[in-house]
Amino acid sequence: MERPATPPPKAVPRQQAISPPTPEITRRIEENRLKAKALRERSIAAQEAAASQPTARTPSGFLAEDISSAGRKRSHAALSTANVPETSRDARITPTKDDGIQPARKFKKYVDHDFSKMTDTKGGFLSAEDDPFNKALHAPKEGEKPAHMTLKEWERHQLLKGLRNRKEGLFEPGLGLGAKEKGKKCRECGSLEIDWQWEDVFKCDICHRCKEKYPEKYSLLTKTEAKDDYLLTDPELKDAELLPHLSKPNPHKSHWHDMMLFLRYQVEEYAFKTKWGSAEALDAEFEKREADKKKRKEDKFKSKLQELKKKTRTEAYRRNNRGGGKVGQFGDRIGGGKHEHEWGQTVENADGNSVKTCVECGMEVEELEF
Ligand SMILES: [Zn+2]
Ligand SMILES: [Zn+2]
Repeated sequence: MERPATPPPKAVPRQQAISPPTPEITRRIEENRLKAKALRERSIAAQEAAASQPTARTPSGFLAEDISSAGRKRSHAALSTANVPETSRDARITPTKDDGIQPARKFKKYVDHDFSKMTDTKGGFLSAEDDPFNKALHAPKEGEKPAHMTLKEWERHQLLKGLRNRKEGLFEPGLGLGAKEKGKKCRECGSLEIDWQWEDVFKCDICHRCKEKYPEKYSLLTKTEAKDDYLLTDPELKDAELLPHLSKPNPHKSHWHDMMLFLRYQVEEYAFKTKWGSAEALDAEFEKREADKKKRKEDKFKSKLQELKKKTRTEAYRRNNRGGGKVGQFGDRIGGGKHEHEWGQTVENADGNSVKTCVECGMEVEELEF
């Protein structure tokens, strides 16, 4: 009996069944092709129109701005182009520019001086140009333009600062209206245009015209004047509650302390009424102080003269001893009348002049001091 065996499968080359496109599909393909073509033609036409019309105008004749992209997300292509401006910083991009060999960071500021090109200051120090990293040499001085400001900006800044300080221009409180509301008017003429800075600092409502009109009341005194003329002390003048003052930058030296300006009538009021009692009392005190000053000066002169006489006497004594003569007295003529003057120490006499006296004959000459 024959064993049943499965015959090996017959290797039949599989025929790929490619059915011809149905008319339906052919129609769709053709449709899509035409659509794409139409789109392409439209975009080309739009590009040409944009190129031929450099200044697009709205129907009303205004320059048409491209608002199509406004408020819309930009496409990736618009963002990531090759023509990134130089100033645009992007941390992802590492600079490819080769700067050559760089010094270590802590030596970046090391200056290798070329001594042949430097100014010889003859003093062993560097001039400002030779020392560009010296902060002390190049520090902007107070009241000078900082480096980051242009001249225009600096002028504007200074102008605004001045106006703000003086409460003028746009910093002036509403003219008239503010004064009326606060019940402030000129204490002399009743005008509403008062000086707001003075109102603020001196608590004195006065208009600019009256300030000029009554200088005996409304002129400003410097601190030195207040001290010398009204015998006020530094602590009194520094007490702003006692005597308010206006601070102004010193016109002669900008780095000096601000000038303190006092209002004359306020200083007089305080000096006459509170401190000295009356103008006469102030005068009396002034006389007394002047007299004291003169006496002190005279005393000083006398003591200096005394000292000089003592010195002279010992000198004359020694001289005479050397010469073998008798002991001389101050003012004695020594050795035959003619001599070369030997000038002693310069002292200030009662008139305030510098005087030197001859050690031997006592002759006085004025000395000029330079
Ligand atoms: Zn007035
Ligand atoms: Zn002499």
